[in-house]
Amino acid sequence: MLQVAEAQRLVLERVQPLPPAVWSLGPEALGLVLAEDIAGDIDMPPFDKSLMDGYAVRSADMPEGKAVLDVIEEVTAGQTPQKKLGPGHATRIMTGAPLPEGADAVVMVERTRLVESTSPKREQGTRIAVDDKPPKPDQNILRRGREMRAGEVVLPAGSRLRPQELGILATVGRTQAHVIPRPCLAVLSTGDEIVEAAQTPGPGQIRNGNGPMLVGLAARAGARPTYLGNAKDRLDSLRPLVEKGLQHDVLVLTGGVSAGKLDLVPGVLADAGVEAVFHKVEMKPGKPVFFGYKELNVVGTLRVPSVSNGTLRVPSVSNGTRSVPTTLVFGLPGNPVSSLVCFELFVRPAIRASMGHSPGPHLVSAELAEDYPYRSDRVTYHPALLDSTGRTRKVRTTPWFGSADLRGINRANAFVILPPGDTIHRAGSWLDVLVVESEFDRGGVTAK
Ligand code: AMP
Ligand code: MG
Repeated sequence: MLQVAEAQRLVLERVQPLPPAVWSLGPEALGLVLAEDIAGDIDMPPFDKSLMDGYAVRSADMPEGKAVLDVIEEVTAGQTPQKKLGPGHATRIMTGAPLPEGADAVVMVERTRLVESTSPKREQGTRIAVDDKPPKPDQNILRRGREMRAGEVVLPAGSRLRPQELGILATVGRTQAHVIPRPCLAVLSTGDEIVEAAQTPGPGQIRNGNGPMLVGLAARAGARPTYLGNAKDRLDSLRPLVEKGLQHDVLVLTGGVSAGKLDLVPGVLADAGVEAVFHKVEMKPGKPVFFGYKELNVVGTLRVPSVSNGTLRVPSVSNGTRSVPTTLVFGLPGNPVSSLVCFELFVRPAIRASMGHSPGPHLVSAELAEDYPYRSDRVTYHPALLDSTGRTRKVRTTPWFGSADLRGINRANAFVILPPGDTIHRAGSWLDVLVVESEFDRGGVTAK
């Protein structure tokens, strides 16, 4: 049977970054990858500016750091100095204010004291005594263009947008930019026994936990998810919803991919023109997982997202072109934990790669905190708690009743990877861990 690493390779082989689109640079752009070089339109700072509240001085007036100076003007941020400093002069200056002509250093206000005041208006006619160390050249001054020069590339294409990048983009006057967009991802659950959360299950029925979970996983991975509803285990129910799902960059189904009498998903996907790449992977849970793709019939079909008034819009018809228009199709087993593990192992990397990121999955090595006897003929992704706060990363398994036990992974933040066999995994041994909660998790985005 296919091994996990090989299956991951087969998925990533089919993925390419989505074509760039113009996005507004609000919080919904966080985590996206820039698809153009960004150049500054101005020098930053645009003028020699003071970095302190204090006095602009001529260092020649105070070679030893001591002087008595006449204050000739006061400049606050946003104002322009009107007077040039001559010998024996100082200008009261605030942080962010432009430096007056003639000044080459700023002395902190804490290093000065007023020695004489002849006017009720505070600075006029004021003299100050400076008692500081000998001034260094450009002390407390940021010269024009020190941060960036007009025309200079400040963010190259490929930069990941973090809050600080949003700050730089705003600084150079950008409110929109070409980025690699988030993939549109459809979630379709299947099963005669499934009812939605608001309903009370009848005999033999269960509520749909996977739908909201997969929508959440997709959003956390960076995609823009749409929930298509639940298809019954009948061709006439599945087919139209699968067709709808194939209009997206990624279609994720849950349930109906195993070997049961009503596991119709692989057949329906084949009829809809989906090319199967694999069906079954050597792993526990999640063995029946299916992956395929469909190259769209109409070459050039593409739904390029756009943003207006801060809201993302995805047109229902094509408005662009793309070299290989493809929908990636994942059929995840219906058991909730299987769905989650398969999502993290196969779907998340595909989402990340389509956004121009390194795909992961996020694996780390950690020391087992307690002995754990375990037997399985397949590699097992066992729910676990990863603790990275100490000097060594520690992992312990969390109680778990198998692939249907979503409640059991409530306490987990990771899956420890247990190799096949019948063994006692010893405390202190090092094991690979699949991290499912990371610092790169993102918040939501409104899609229309
Ligand atoms: P299947 O993969 O369709 O054979 O389903 C395997 C198990 O997962 C069955 O016990 C299903 O009832 C359960 N299951 C399937 N879909 C869901 C879902 N959307 N939410 C919760 N459990 C599900
Ligand atoms: Mg089913």
